[in-house]
Amino acid sequence: MALIVQKYGGTSVANPDRIRNLARRVARYKAMGHKVVVVVSAMSGETNRLISLAKEIMPDPDPRELDVILSTGEQVTIGMTSLALMELGIKAKSYTGSQVKILTDDAFTKARILSIDEGNIKNDLDNGYVVVVAGFQGVDGNGNITTLGRGGSDTTGVALAAALKADECQIYTDVDGVYTTDPRVVPEARRLDKITFEEMLELASQGSKVLQIRSVEFAGKYKVKLRVLSSFDDEGEGTLITFEEEKDMEQPVISGIAFNRDEAKITVLGVPDKPGIAYQILGPIAEANVDVDMIIQNTGADGTTDFTFTVNKNEMNKALSILRDKVQAHIGAREIKGDDKIAKVSIVGVGMRSHVGIASKMFRILAEEGINIQMISTSEIKIAVVIDEKYLELAVRVLHKAFELDAE
Ligand code: ADP
Ligand code: ASP
Ligand code: MG
Repeated sequence: MALIVQKYGGTSVANPDRIRNLARRVARYKAMGHKVVVVVSAMSGETNRLISLAKEIMPDPDPRELDVILSTGEQVTIGMTSLALMELGIKAKSYTGSQVKILTDDAFTKARILSIDEGNIKNDLDNGYVVVVAGFQGVDGNGNITTLGRGGSDTTGVALAAALKADECQIYTDVDGVYTTDPRVVPEARRLDKITFEEMLELASQGSKVLQIRSVEFAGKYKVKLRVLSSFDDEGEGTLITFEEEKDMEQPVISGIAFNRDEAKITVLGVPDKPGIAYQILGPIAEANVDVDMIIQNTGADGTTDFTFTVNKNEMNKALSILRDKVQAHIGAREIKGDDKIAKVSIVGVGMRSHVGIASKMFRILAEEGINIQMISTSEIKIAVVIDEKYLELAVRVLHKAFELDAE
């Protein structure tokens, strides 16, 4: 008998039939004698619908109130899922994030989980219930409802699996595993039977939304056995996230390609080339809780330089106003520009550690297509470039082919 956490994404709970289908799978696991905790997302499209609804009243919605609105999506599906289980004669009980007590910080719309009170869930499991928990939401120390950022139900699933010391966390979605890249962009993409935790972390952080990055971080920290599977097909083995590198196996140099359309680029032009400038630019950005991803600063000519960084598109205007209102005059910068027509493409693979020339190959392939590289960042197992948004799909396709990731 095992304790299994099953997380179902939006498309897997999109309508009553799919919810019934989910309930039948849970029933099969229950019949095998397992304890099952189900984590559900909102029905597909619902979170987007709620965001648009809020924006009709306030174009830049107050984050606390937005979280109150967004959390309702998952509240509907936990109730629906419990009803579907009851209809199959299974004892089921739903919990919102605050009822479980998934305690988070107070960073509304992108809160982090601090702790989970697993006592009630354990009791219910011991008493034969299937426990159904709302993904994507928690409660802060003052009782305010919070949400965990887009895709956050993955993190609820893995964090619960960690707190309950579950034997396995299964992420059920609309693809049957983790692919070499998004199969919707490259139909030749291949499903991976296994992927190392490090690679999955890099792919998720570079934009592969099949798993939210924080869910992968939790899996790594608590060594949660994590598997991505299709909710539409009961046969497949999905993709297992592994913690050991296979020494005996010939590692492919590149395991996957991730991309991200959600970032925007901000350039501060003509800043004095002297100590403290990076801090004066990025300090106020960090204070406003705006996450910065890539950063580049050119070497100065004639005593000035340009400073460029990327932020989430949603936060570009906020970052631009902070810089224009509080920083520009202070540091004597000539101009502050924003560009949200960019995209980032990253190639990822632990095999890069033992191979040289991967970056130059990537740059050559992009050059052959006439794609200009605007920014570059690298880690031991990743090379990421920022390009014009309109070349994104072309870039992913040609790189996928050139690095021989296509299905045979
Ligand atoms: P859910 O609603 O189940 O959480 P998501 O839409 O968040 O589903 O994530 C699944 C989607 O992630 C897939 O439909 C696919 O388009 C996309 N995706 C991006 N990169 C990958 C990848 N490397 N492997 C598989 N799916 C990917
Ligand atoms: N419903 C939330 C979203 O659409 C959380 C999730 O699906 O994981 O982002
Ligand atoms: Mg998701």
